[in-house]
Amino acid sequence: MITVRTVAEARAWALARRAAGTSVALVPTMGALHAGHLSLLRHARRASGAVVLSVFVNPTQFGPGEDFARYPRDPERDGALAAEAGADLFFAPSVEEMYPGGTEVMVDVGRLGAVWEGAARPGHFRGVATVVAKLLHATMPDVAVFGQKDAQQVVVVRHLVAALLWPVRILCAPTVRAEDGLALSSRNAYLEAGERAAAPALAAAIAAGAAAVAAGERRPTAVEAVVAEALAREPRLRPDYVAAVDAARLERPPLLQGRVLLLAAARAGRTRLLDNACLEVGPDACRAALP
Ligand code: AMP
Repeated sequence: MITVRTVAEARAWALARRAAGTSVALVPTMGALHAGHLSLLRHARRASGAVVLSVFVNPTQFGPGEDFARYPRDPERDGALAAEAGADLFFAPSVEEMYPGGTEVMVDVGRLGAVWEGAARPGHFRGVATVVAKLLHATMPDVAVFGQKDAQQVVVVRHLVAALLWPVRILCAPTVRAEDGLALSSRNAYLEAGERAAAPALAAAIAAGAAAVAAGERRPTAVEAVVAEALAREPRLRPDYVAAVDAARLERPPLLQGRVLLLAAARAGRTRLLDNACLEVGPDACRAALP
């Protein structure tokens, strides 16, 4: 594995691979790598001949008062894990390298970036879309792999590349979880013991919502109420939002149908937890509710 820190080096490496007929996959991360990131690398490996892992803690996707300064950083450990997991290029640029013109030019993704997680974290998806655009330009991949863990991010990135006519395929890899169901996240390192014990209740509450859908419930607000009630049973979690929405537009439909996302966020102490489930709701499934 080669490590580079400049856009010029990353782009030259990727263009050489492409010129040799090898497809390139990008896995963008903010580092503090865990098994979720490594699973994205394995998906990238299967999709492409050459794999780039980027590690960049992007300042523009953090709001004022958020955890940019204390976000966990361990570049040496990240490098070792990435090499072991089969990355070919480790791209770890500085803020100056990624924002040579400052932050005057930013990518706005409109409504999809303003709802749910975007409403809770104003400006977050503007920062995400901007850095993803920069990383795609820097590494020129055929494919970029993102995690289902951040489902709204996948929707926003797909919207971004479609709107900007970008010839890159966006793959979404399943969420990797701890044994007790908690979705792995670099931010889980912040959790104190009691918070960590409470945290799996978020995934369990979403699973209760999914079970209600499986049992025939089609009203989004009723499904959201099931999730909210399950969350309320864990007093150490403070719910932020719960949403049962269509997976393309992230809007609450009159009745759930087709591909549906159950999104939820909650706080455990100072740490924000985020999770979701993606469901396929068949047209005839509502009959399950009938005797
Ligand atoms: P991050 O470093 O948190 O910005 O995440 C980098 C990429 O890894 C994003 O596409 C995330 O959605 C993905 N990711 C983070 N946690 C997980 C997880 N537990 N399972 C699968 N993918 C994940």
